[in-house]
Amino acid sequence: MQAAVYHGKEQIIVQQVADPTLEAGDVLLEIEACNVCGTDLRTYRHGDKKITPPRILGHEFCGRVVESKNPDANVKIGDRVLMYIVLSCGECRYCKAGRENLCTSRTTMSYHLDGAFAPLMRVPEKAVRRQQLFKVSEELPSEHLSLAEPLGCVINAHGRGRLEIGLKDRVAVIGAGPIGVLHALVSRYQGAQQVDMYDVMQARLDKLSAFDIDNAVRVEKEGSHLEKALELTDGLGYDVVIVAVSVAQAQADALEIAGKMGRVEYFGGLPKTNPFATLNTNHLHYKELKISGSYSEKMSDFQAATALVQKKDFPSDKIVTHLLPLERITEAFTLMESGEALKVSIKP
Ligand SMILES: [Zn+2]
Ligand SMILES: [Zn+2]
Repeated sequence: MQAAVYHGKEQIIVQQVADPTLEAGDVLLEIEACNVCGTDLRTYRHGDKKITPPRILGHEFCGRVVESKNPDANVKIGDRVLMYIVLSCGECRYCKAGRENLCTSRTTMSYHLDGAFAPLMRVPEKAVRRQQLFKVSEELPSEHLSLAEPLGCVINAHGRGRLEIGLKDRVAVIGAGPIGVLHALVSRYQGAQQVDMYDVMQARLDKLSAFDIDNAVRVEKEGSHLEKALELTDGLGYDVVIVAVSVAQAQADALEIAGKMGRVEYFGGLPKTNPFATLNTNHLHYKELKISGSYSEKMSDFQAATALVQKKDFPSDKIVTHLLPLERITEAFTLMESGEALKVSIKP
């Protein structure tokens, strides 16, 4: 088959590789669509220590079962499915607490096993046995269903009483990429009264008119967006601030624009080469802020996301802005960086 193989920094080559071979208990998927994640872009540009090349990337996918070596599987040949991509041990302290995303020995599709930037992908026995494949609607485009993976991560961030968005809350999301937009949507579903988005890129802010966003604010170097934030919140600051961008300054800004009793979520990590931010921690003290972080998603988050993307009013069509064939995968990265695309989907 023709697959997009990652060979190292700035090297993704579309080339001929052997079809995946199944072992007992495995299932084979024919990939209908695989969306490009910000982490694929980051791996392409900067590499990733967790990934040993050659590796087929791609973990936001929808596929169809075309072969099964598992008679006990909860899905059968012909079923269209989404997959929860975390392979956890099931034994460690975190797995036992239902927090398989934090498993001490987790592996993940497209990191430790080949992913879905290819026409075929092997689903390992462990994932089939744990029922990590979910049958989905035949009616929706596969690139829309594939949004369940990033959406599950966003739902994880909102869970466990972390952000506690209520009806009167004003929410700011810093970063108007696809993850930021998903955070805005979930905040709205939780009942937020006002949802504002902040970004440095005008091209991204312009795209927000398609969504139910109250204010799109351009982040300026001289800090005028901080005054704007106070203006938009009657001088009080936001009840919830979500940082959906991997930028230290955004993490610092979040504390500035949070109001008293505010909840701040650092959704994305910072680059591993420089993961430090300079924060005015007096904001935590005087405003009694709470800061949370989140990583990946639990299976229950993925299930909730799978249900949400299949709801009629979920605006997937506005989030997935570009479809590209596998050969043009590296164009996806440029489209994402320029802010021209929100979510790019690859059709292998
Ligand atoms: Zn992703
Ligand atoms: Zn574990």
